Amino acid sequence: MKFHLISLGCTKNTADSEFIANRFASAGWSWAEKPEMADLILINTCGFIKDAKEESLTTIMNNLSIKDNHPDIRVCVFGCLVKRYRAEIQSEIPEIDYLFEFLSEDQLKMLISLNSNNRLTPDYSQSWRFFTPSHIGILKIAEGCSNRCSYCAIPGIRGPFYSRPQAEILRDAQKLAASGAKEMSIVAQDITRYGTDIEGRCTLPALVRELSAVTGLEWLRLHYMHPRGLTPRLIDELYSIPKVLPYFDIPLQHVSKRILEAMNRHTSPEHLIRLIDHIRRNYPEGTIRTTFIVGFPGEQKRDFDKLIDFIEEHPLDRVGAFAYSEEEGTAAEKLKPRVRPSTRQARLDQLMTLQQLIVGEQNQKLLNRVVNVIVDEVQPERVLARTAGDAYEVDNVTTIAGKHKVKPGDIIRVRIVNADSYDFTAEMVA
Ligand code: SF4
Repeated sequence: MKFHLISLGCTKNTADSEFIANRFASAGWSWAEKPEMADLILINTCGFIKDAKEESLTTIMNNLSIKDNHPDIRVCVFGCLVKRYRAEIQSEIPEIDYLFEFLSEDQLKMLISLNSNNRLTPDYSQSWRFFTPSHIGILKIAEGCSNRCSYCAIPGIRGPFYSRPQAEILRDAQKLAASGAKEMSIVAQDITRYGTDIEGRCTLPALVRELSAVTGLEWLRLHYMHPRGLTPRLIDELYSIPKVLPYFDIPLQHVSKRILEAMNRHTSPEHLIRLIDHIRRNYPEGTIRTTFIVGFPGEQKRDFDKLIDFIEEHPLDRVGAFAYSEEEGTAAEKLKPRVRPSTRQARLDQLMTLQQLIVGEQNQKLLNRVVNVIVDEVQPERVLARTAGDAYEVDNVTTIAGKHKVKPGDIIRVRIVNADSYDFTAEMVA
């Protein structure tokens, strides 16, 4: 039997989808390139914010409509959207064949057993990649979140933070490396919390040191470090480990003291500046990625001006920004006064216009520099790659024109010959 899995939302969902798809493949199911060619369509939904919820619902309805011409196809829907709105989905979309929150082991086994031709003994020796190229692995090290940022629905969806056992994580990392992963993205809602629920302190450095020793891995990329859990000392411990890229993914969200408190971020503008300054002083090759939310309830012009001043005084390399959107069930939903949607949008536009200029200047620093890049794709007339400062499908792409004897996963040296706000052009260096 054939399955097709659609993975929506964040990299944590991608890691879950990769695990589930591998279980199906290990049991003898084959992958259907298109949903209409499958016997079972699985949709791993996202329920984080409005846009993501709408995308999940559209995806569900589109795939259910396939049943019109293929009535034997079964559709299974699970994940964050179901966790949040199970009753509504059950009553409003009864056409769904299997509806689960997060797939339990028994539910997964039940779905897999729909194929009577299953292998009696699943073949766990292999590891397939369905959602990323084989040279990239996504390693989820923990589940849930206990930070309770006032605007965020995730703690309500995914529950409190818990670290995955180190042995389990290392086993997954070895399997990913054995099946071709050269670059590993290490993800959770907040990786700085790793170990705190078990040992009462952050044991992330110990875990990363173990991962650094995994044969075959060459690049380790750390994601989602909440600034409250970060200190200059923890930064030095982590970024002195071999293979850890000088890529600092630290969601700041805002820099106004008043707004940080209203967001329940448990950090201060002084601490954020201390972290940024420490990175700039000690990691000159470092790339700082962050996100900001503008238009949060109570945000006054002076708060927003503080944010604009901050990004001018502390230029950041990779920035995503969002206009605040109310999420039901979050503490911030009740906060007043609300900022008019048009003002939120205007502030978002202003911030991103300025940030585009800043990123352009930051990227110029790489001009004529010889750097390592990892090859993602080899096309007939060019190679697509990324610098250490660019995460897969998130940040900049480096294009190397011409035909070159390289393959995905190769780490090669190039000279950056052009840099704009969002991409690099490079030439091979012998
Ligand atoms: S750190 Fe904050 S924003 Fe991130 S998942 Fe946890 S509660 Fe949500």
